[in-house]
Amino acid sequence: MTHFTFETTSRPTPADQRKILLEDPKFGRVFTDHMAIIHYSEDKGWHDAKITPRQPLPLDPASTVFHYGQEIFEGMKAYKGRDGKPLLFRPQANAARFAASARRLAMAELPEDLLLDSIRSLLKLDQEWIPTGEGQSLYLRPFMISNEVFLGVKPSHEYLYVLLASPAGAYFSHGCVSVWVTDRYTRAAPGGTGEAKCGGNYASSLVAQMEASANGCDQVLFLDAVEKRYVEEMGGMNIMFVRHDGSVVTPPLNGSILRGVTRDSLLRLGRHMGITMVEEPLVMDEVFAAIEKGDIAEAFACGTAAVVSPIGVFKRESGDVKFGDGNTPGETTMKLRKALESIQRDEAEDPFGWRYRVAL
Ligand SMILES: *Cc1c(COP(=O)(O)O)cnc(C)c1O
Repeated sequence: MTHFTFETTSRPTPADQRKILLEDPKFGRVFTDHMAIIHYSEDKGWHDAKITPRQPLPLDPASTVFHYGQEIFEGMKAYKGRDGKPLLFRPQANAARFAASARRLAMAELPEDLLLDSIRSLLKLDQEWIPTGEGQSLYLRPFMISNEVFLGVKPSHEYLYVLLASPAGAYFSHGCVSVWVTDRYTRAAPGGTGEAKCGGNYASSLVAQMEASANGCDQVLFLDAVEKRYVEEMGGMNIMFVRHDGSVVTPPLNGSILRGVTRDSLLRLGRHMGITMVEEPLVMDEVFAAIEKGDIAEAFACGTAAVVSPIGVFKRESGDVKFGDGNTPGETTMKLRKALESIQRDEAEDPFGWRYRVAL
């Protein structure tokens, strides 16, 4: 059993300054005072688990991560429960996915309990950073890099696991997002790393995100890499469509689509609410035609950061389609969002036991 040692910062953020930072933290720029760090080496295994002041990492420039990109990460949110204690949402699913990502990238697996322990230990010192305003949460970012000093191409024998915490506001402010369907770039191919949450997937998606921005869109949607016909997912979120008959459909997990915890939760929660939730391949051309005809009435992106984000417009090289005025969230979309958020925020029954109270 690895135990964390605690090294607290000598210069904690004063409470009044933290209060100002928490008023409107936006996303990913404000950090708590501490971080968790654990080392791995082949001979010692996981060792030297620490909570330290948040600080730069000393890394040799020959560390393998800089050259061959063995890097994985996770994203989850901590809320404050009604009892004032930190609350997570299905963190075991993130820990299991982190281990699965490590296997795909030939990295050392962090035991799932150790990841949960790192969160518990960090929150012991930084729980005051959990914001409580509408749409706010403390975003948790566990990640792992390879840091053996070696330029040869092989799986590293040394790894560094780090956990950061970053107070966050609502990811997308209001209204709907616009989505660019790229016919040019793909995100993940069969047998590739699409199911792993690794930085490399994001690196290769950014040029497509730039293409989306150049075409006036907020987000990019990728098609399958083989036929470039089937809907897969966005750069960092899964996608769902609402049919005219009220059923919800999303592409099935095929090895190149990331197994979103939000996606899985919505499928189960939707069924519980009496909504027909279907996993079925979707041909992009048919989706455009169905939106035009009104057979598909809503669409939304889903993921931890954005929870559920209504989509107003789809654009691609061959033309655009939109829902109504292109900026009005759909009814089923908002119903699902509300239901999921209410569970996450401790405001509703938790029929699946998804909430996880952090015992400090
Ligand atoms: C993280 C991620 C998602 C969403 O997963 P959640 O577990 O719901 O946060 C979707 N697609 C990609 C590519 C991702 O990296």
